[in-house]
Amino acid sequence: MSHKNASEEKNAIVGGTLYLISTPIGNLSDLSERAIKVLSEVDFIAAEDTRNTGKLLACLGISRPMVSYYEHNKRERGPKIVERLLAGEACALCSDAGTPAISDPGEDLVRLCAEQGVTVTAVPGCCAAITALTLSGLPTARFCFEGFLPVDKKPRRERLEQLTYNTATMILYEAPHKLRSTLADLIKVLGGTRRIALCRELTKRNEEILRTTLGGAAERYESEEPRGEYVLIIEGGSETAPRSAETAERLALSPADHVTYYENTGLSRMDAIKAAAKERGVPKNELYRQLNADK
Ligand code: SAM
Repeated sequence: MSHKNASEEKNAIVGGTLYLISTPIGNLSDLSERAIKVLSEVDFIAAEDTRNTGKLLACLGISRPMVSYYEHNKRERGPKIVERLLAGEACALCSDAGTPAISDPGEDLVRLCAEQGVTVTAVPGCCAAITALTLSGLPTARFCFEGFLPVDKKPRRERLEQLTYNTATMILYEAPHKLRSTLADLIKVLGGTRRIALCRELTKRNEEILRTTLGGAAERYESEEPRGEYVLIIEGGSETAPRSAETAERLALSPADHVTYYENTGLSRMDAIKAAAKERGVPKNELYRQLNADK
């Protein structure tokens, strides 16, 4: 079979199939030819945000029936979509942007389809996580997708502690209004010298890759308001010296309590500051500055 015939065969829409359509994360030209074809030919489209997907379809001159499928209606809507698929309809699933099922409710629809024996296939394309990883300049051979950190205190602290044992490059999603507190929490457990690439507004006019350290990133956003969408790519820990739970606990202390901890072990104030600064991955002067600011 020629390549042309093989791909033509793969391109034919098959009833009873869920198509995961990756959509642009900023630049409309990133939508694939195959995605456009599938979107124009399926029986209906399930969209995380019908307004967003509606705009995309309008740009392409495509008109297909749409249903919404998002976090707050997924339990009720998922089985209905599966019912239509089992009856032989073809459905395209679009998330807000990027690859469905990555940090969005598409994950649950794919699981439902798998449980019910419905065929699921993908039209691959943009994914913010992978785009950022490839641009980060950090090791890509082993990476770990962490998505959004939990917001609630306890699960957040537990997840942050788990990160301290991670030796692979880490990928995190973050909203601009939470960026500062997330950087501060990451510094508490990973220290300020860990390398990070902040990948902002990917594929958009204001795309920016800031390659720095966690401390450097916190400093930059002390004075500048975080804006736009971010993916954080963080260097993994060293294989030879994974951070212990005790170290993680000390890093969660305030700078002053961290120094006091070392003073209580019998170190002079000067040596305690030296030890705490080393563990926090910040220069001694920076720790002095933080101690004075806390007063
Ligand atoms: N499914 C999507 C994907 O494959 O990329 C991710 C959905 S998640 C709900 C949305 C998060 O992805 C945003 O908060 C941001 O962290 C990241 N993101 C999406 N578009 C981005 C862009 N153009 N630049 C940087 N980050 C982006």
